[in-house]
Parts: sequence; C-alpha cells; structure tokens
Amino acid sequence: MTALLSTTGLQAFYGDAQALFGIDFELHAGELLAVIGANGAGKSTFLKCLAGLVRAPREAVLFKGLPIGGLAPGEIVRRGLAMVPEGRRLFASLSVEENLLMGAASGRSGPWNLKRLYEMFPVLAHKRAEPGTSLSGGQQQMVALGRALMSNPELLLCDELSLGLAPIVIREIYAAMPRITAEGMTVVIVEQDVGMAQQVSQRVYCLQEGRVSLSGRSSELTREQISQAYFGLQ
Ligand code: ATP
Repeated sequence: MTALLSTTGLQAFYGDAQALFGIDFELHAGELLAVIGANGAGKSTFLKCLAGLVRAPREAVLFKGLPIGGLAPGEIVRRGLAMVPEGRRLFASLSVEENLLMGAASGRSGPWNLKRLYEMFPVLAHKRAEPGTSLSGGQQQMVALGRALMSNPELLLCDELSLGLAPIVIREIYAAMPRITAEGMTVVIVEQDVGMAQQVSQRVYCLQEGRVSLSGRSSELTREQISQAYFGLQ
C-alpha cells in the first residue's frame, strides 16, 4: 500500500537548535494515527513541518507521492492537508460563522460545509453570530476543528485538541472523530493524554527528544512499552 504521507529522515531546526533528528514516518489513507510524547519531544514541530509552518527539506515530506517539504502553508492546504493548531488560534474580530468560513477559503469542495458542522456541533449553530473568542474553551476547539474541516482536507492534523479542556468536553470532541473518519478522511492527532490517544487511534508513534522512540498498533502496545518510549525509563 502506498503511503498517503511519509517523511524520511526529517530534521527540523529553530535557528541553531535542532528539534527533530531524522523522523521516518508513514501514514496510510483512512488511518487515525496518534503522535504522543512528553513536553518538548517535538510533536508540534513535526506537525508544523507537515503543514509548512516550520521549514522542512523538500524531499523529506511526501504527500500523495509528491514532495511538499518547505511549501507555503496555503499551498499545502490547497493540496488537501489542513491543521488544527494548538491553542485554537481563532480570529478574535470574527464571529463563529466567519471563523468557520475562513476555512473554506482554500476552495476545495467536499462533504464538509456549515450545515454538516452545525449538525455535528449544534452549539455552534446557536452561537454562530457571537465572536469566536467569547465561547468556552471547548466550543472554541469545536470552531477550530470545524474551520479545518471546512477546507475539506484529505488529511487533518490536530495538535492537542484536549489542551486545557475538562474531561467531559474532551470526550465530546473526540466523539466527533468517527464521523470525520467515516467520510474517508485521514487524521493525525497529537495528544498528551496517552489513554485517550490509544483509545481513539489505530496506530501510535511516540517521539522522544526529536526521535521516534516507538511505533505500533494502538491495541497491541503495552503500558510498559509506552512508558519506556515516553519517558525513556529503563
Ligand atoms: P509540547 O507538548 O510542550 O507542545 P512538543 O512535543 O510539541 O511539546 P515542540 O513544541 O515541537 O514539542 O518542541 C520541540 C523542541 O523545539 C523543544 O526543545 C522546544 O523547546 C523547541 N521549540 C519549539 N518551538 C520553538 C521555537 N519557536 N523556537 C525555538 N525552539 C522551539
């Protein structure tokens, strides 16, 4: 099976500081894959390299068989890869609906539109005219997720959807995942909550200090394997 997305020897730098040290990664169409790891392991940097927000060598990232490393973020969205950034990053001056419509600006068509999103998250329909940033953290996360879906990506990258949210809200947001993957969308989540990551994903990659320390099927990895890969415990 050819990979939808792969990276080979991916390295990333912030100035002189190296954050990723040769990541080999493969993702197949239709998968829901989780990237886990401790603070500073490089999870966000990895997603940002895929989305064009941190510079990557051209050939180190292949999407649908074509090199996309270092392309402009907008070009990567047009090719079908969208990201829900950590911390939501809604436009403060725009309403909920205007924030969602920003996601449609890439012009890709597909199953996701305002109607579908409002069916999935009815609270957003009620608050459609309110400023996005006036919503609760969980509702803002729904807007951020919805905004990415509005670009009808083939691959959706989600950075720490659960950050700062109450467990009940986290469950509500992750409950949307089966509806998203049912449309044939491929999803990568970065998740601090390892239990949640393992529960919702089919495969897991664990990063440690900028390297892949473990990868495998979520249902087959033991707690001990994950602890060791996560913290480097012997
Ligand atoms: P977290 O869960 O805390 O977000 P992470 O696994 O996503 O952690 P990254 O944010 O990718 O990790 O950070 C990887 C490394 O790169 C860390 O050493 C971090 O200090 C460094 N780093 C991240 N962003 C920057 C930046 N903008 N400038 C310089 N160094 C950075």
